[in-house]
Amino acid sequence: MISHEVLIVGGGLAGLRAAIESSKYADSAVLSRVHPLRSHTGAAQGGINASLANIEANRDDNWEKHAYDTVKGSDFLADQDAVEVMTREAPERIIEMEHWGCPFSRTQDGKIAQRPFGGAGYPRTCYAADKTGHYLLVTAYEQALKQKVKFYNEWFATSAIVDNGAIKGITAFDILTGDLEVFTAKAVVLATGGAGWLYGKSTNSMINTGSGMAIAYRAGVALKDMEFVQFHPTALYPTCILITEGARGEGGYLVNSKGERFMQRYAAKAMELAPRDIVSRSIQKEIDEGRGVKDLYVHLDVRHLGKNKILSNLPGIRDIAMQFADIDPVNEPIPVQPAQHYTMGGIDCNAKCETTIKGLYAAGECACISVHGANRLGGNSLLDTVVFGKIAGEQAGNFAKNTPQETKKEALYGDALKTEKDQIQRLFEGSGDADTALLREEMRGLMVDKAFMFRNKDGLIEAKSKLDQLGSRLGKLRPIARYKVFNLDLIRAIELREMLELAEVIVASALSREESRGSHVRLDFPKRDDTRFLKHTLAYKTADGPRIEFSPVKIARWQPEERKY
Ligand SMILES: Cc1cc2nc3c(=O)[nH]c(=O)nc-3n(C[C@H](O)[C@H](O)[C@H](O)COP(=O)(O)OP(=O)(O)OC[C@H]3O[C@@H](n4cnc5c(N)ncnc54)[C@H](O)[C@@H]3O)c2cc1C
Repeated sequence: MISHEVLIVGGGLAGLRAAIESSKYADSAVLSRVHPLRSHTGAAQGGINASLANIEANRDDNWEKHAYDTVKGSDFLADQDAVEVMTREAPERIIEMEHWGCPFSRTQDGKIAQRPFGGAGYPRTCYAADKTGHYLLVTAYEQALKQKVKFYNEWFATSAIVDNGAIKGITAFDILTGDLEVFTAKAVVLATGGAGWLYGKSTNSMINTGSGMAIAYRAGVALKDMEFVQFHPTALYPTCILITEGARGEGGYLVNSKGERFMQRYAAKAMELAPRDIVSRSIQKEIDEGRGVKDLYVHLDVRHLGKNKILSNLPGIRDIAMQFADIDPVNEPIPVQPAQHYTMGGIDCNAKCETTIKGLYAAGECACISVHGANRLGGNSLLDTVVFGKIAGEQAGNFAKNTPQETKKEALYGDALKTEKDQIQRLFEGSGDADTALLREEMRGLMVDKAFMFRNKDGLIEAKSKLDQLGSRLGKLRPIARYKVFNLDLIRAIELREMLELAEVIVASALSREESRGSHVRLDFPKRDDTRFLKHTLAYKTADGPRIEFSPVKIARWQPEERKY
């Protein structure tokens, strides 16, 4: 048994920012399935939003305008109290990162440079070329080391230990040795990132399986707004590696097979910098109506920006296009298509990152606070991780500091360990001949076919029934390889169960929302319906699958209106 006052599961930007803060109040540790610097945050390219108002083009910007853009971008589903917290704190968090050494790109006179991003009224996306996530992650990791945070790298969390409605710790195994352990903690922060790998077409890496969401769900916490899955407009064809919105922020054009800048038809004012839900749908419409290139993709053209600007501001995407599509964007347009990108839904929590379990907090992409509502604005997710990572750390640290040490509940921990050991033993023994990889790929294909950008009742019902069948086959898996060291076969089997649970939740939530809002488009209910659905979905785990309930959206100063761009 390993004990810490605060345990943070996840070493991405949200987890590290939480650890930096909690370690000021209590002994803190981070447990992460990969080395923190390999967390998915490192892939973030385009930037992080804050109304710095430090350059001529954004002199009139302020947190209220940032908040309004965020609420409008969210199709009015975001909780406005939480949006206020995020946008008010944004400049302070950016300056803090700058002071900790993050090498932001600069204007000629040395100010933090900001580029325009979709749905934003001003250029307010701070960036470090097109590798912003990498630099922020390294900066936060250095600070966490300085704070003497203890790291358990390459440990995989499997369950939350809860007693009388309060968190007592987690179970996890050391991927290097296969040893299963109980970690006791007075407070736990889940910061495990998104669930993009549920989709066969995704910009996310294969570690984004939504593990922490599934852990919270099984422990009794609701998953909120899981039907809202962001599809990014510009993923490289065919690999789906992200081509940052920053490419359009720098002035890139989207062009169809006829050479038209087709966004004129869909968002005449904002054009390529309309919010992502709108641009993704427009691209898909062009392709579906026969104006895609080879009926498969459209072009993102940055040639007119010139070689110097591409090399200085977009070197990463040039590398990606050259390495993975054999195209140099300096001379040729980039083939792009929409792909899953971000999980707007997640672990239900409030603006203090509190869940319904005492002492259990969530932050970052695994959480739904909700600041992104039905559609996240580009650059707001990295911001979400640093603002709410800090708040979660502060809350968890304080909670731990003010909670007396209780005598260890040996029976509780013993039971938790036994449950996990038994489950792993059952996987080793197997109960049939179903193959984890095949089931996973079927599920990922199904989510693209039936629960992607355009949905309808029949398709979702079919998805539900096929997920049920996949669930039954999951009960008949072939025996998992029995080795202990780096047993990826075992991890894939555990992940599959979790991904199927989350896929069920996405489909059930999508079925329950009979309207189109933000990223969730129901072809059978094409309009937004504020009378019936200006509310969050909450999915609770039951033996018969997810039970959907609803909770009100917190509206403060901005009443819902039609979104025009
Ligand atoms: C390609 C790409 C580009 C992006 N660009 C931008 C951008 O420019 N601006 C922006 O605002 N947003 C961007 N985003 C979104 C943003 O990067 C992410 O939402 C954000 O970085 C998530 O941070 P996080 O800390 O919540 O999770 P992550 O960085 O994904 O970290 C999750 C952590 O949890 C750990 N973990 C997961 N499960 C377990 C488990 N069971 N046990 C132990 N550890 C576990 C992992 O090891 C990891 O350390 C981008 C996303 C992608 C995919």
